[in-house]
Amino acid sequence: MFRRSDIEMRVLILAPIGRDADLLAQSLKTIDVESAIVPNVETLLKEAPLGVGAAIIADEAISPEDVHELTSWLSTQPPWSDPPFIILTPGGQSKAYSNERAQQFSTLGNFTLIERPMRPEIIQSTVRSALRGRMKQYEVRSRQEELLRVNSDLEQFAHSASHDLKEPLRNIRIFNELLLKEYGHLLDQRGSGFLDVVGTSAFRMENLLADLLAYTQASSIPDERPGLTDARGALDAALGNLNAAIEEAGAEIIVGDLPAVRMRGSHLQQLFQNLVGNALKYRRVGYPPRISIASSSAGEFWLFSIADNGIGIAPEHREKIFGIFQRLHTNGQYSGTGMGLAICQRIVERYRGRIWVESEPGEGSRFLFTIPA
Ligand code: ADP
Repeated sequence: MFRRSDIEMRVLILAPIGRDADLLAQSLKTIDVESAIVPNVETLLKEAPLGVGAAIIADEAISPEDVHELTSWLSTQPPWSDPPFIILTPGGQSKAYSNERAQQFSTLGNFTLIERPMRPEIIQSTVRSALRGRMKQYEVRSRQEELLRVNSDLEQFAHSASHDLKEPLRNIRIFNELLLKEYGHLLDQRGSGFLDVVGTSAFRMENLLADLLAYTQASSIPDERPGLTDARGALDAALGNLNAAIEEAGAEIIVGDLPAVRMRGSHLQQLFQNLVGNALKYRRVGYPPRISIASSSAGEFWLFSIADNGIGIAPEHREKIFGIFQRLHTNGQYSGTGMGLAICQRIVERYRGRIWVESEPGEGSRFLFTIPA
């Protein structure tokens, strides 16, 4: 059902000595399993990428170098793929010998040792269960591909929608302004009130669309490792953009030593801008914001933190706030689109980092994120 062709379920047999290979192929045919006999590991490695359900390999046909070659090939497999190997070992060997062989083959991961002389029902049942497992892997592949497809469709949709809606909305806002300016005097207070609502709604929607667009763009980060960005420079650029809000709030900003990280500068700046912007916005009445930005090395990651003395966040909301359009307040209380933290999460996760918050209501918040060093 999930295989693309029959070849993906075939069993490759590598047993060059005697009649083992033919006997195995015949035995598998009786349970409707297709197989192909290969003379050596080199051919096995040529055939396997075309499709392999399982491989049966005679122990004596494979040297430690061959195991190494196979292991290298396995390391190129996508995450869903873990081809099963069935290794035929000579009978009557000591326990120490079996242990040693098992040790040698362990890098193949998904392998089973079968001792000779082979009993047909044992090899048949082993192959059956190996193929069953392989089919499950193909199922995972299908689901993964489906998910990727749906995701990319959704992303495309969000991108086009936010892009294409921009222009008509801009017209609504501009013509609304013109209407107010040139014909406002013909309207009574009620009429102007209506136009006001049109104007603020259009403005709000423009902000929502701009954030939605930023969100979809945050996902189009290329896979290759970016160059080093000086985090202090990115923070300074973000603080520059927030200058008016910092002055207005009378905020104190404390900055520790910041490293250079492998990120696009614009992404790091966006992270700082959203997080420091929130720290300024969600301040407690009567308490000038005190915002500390720091970083430390945490194993393979850099850990950044942005701590404030603001209103804080209740435990039940600490995960939810990273969702798109998720807000804890009305626009009357604090303006916003509910997209800032979703954008932050998207950026951080694209770099294989993590973002979370530690906070208590009324006791400030500390947003933390990691970026691979
Ligand atoms: P927005 O600020 O536009 O609402 P965000 O995604 O940036 O959207 O934030 C989501 C919600 O998380 C906010 O509505 C707010 O309730 C909460 N929040 C974010 N940052 C802080 C903070 N520093 N202190 C308290 N609450 C915060």
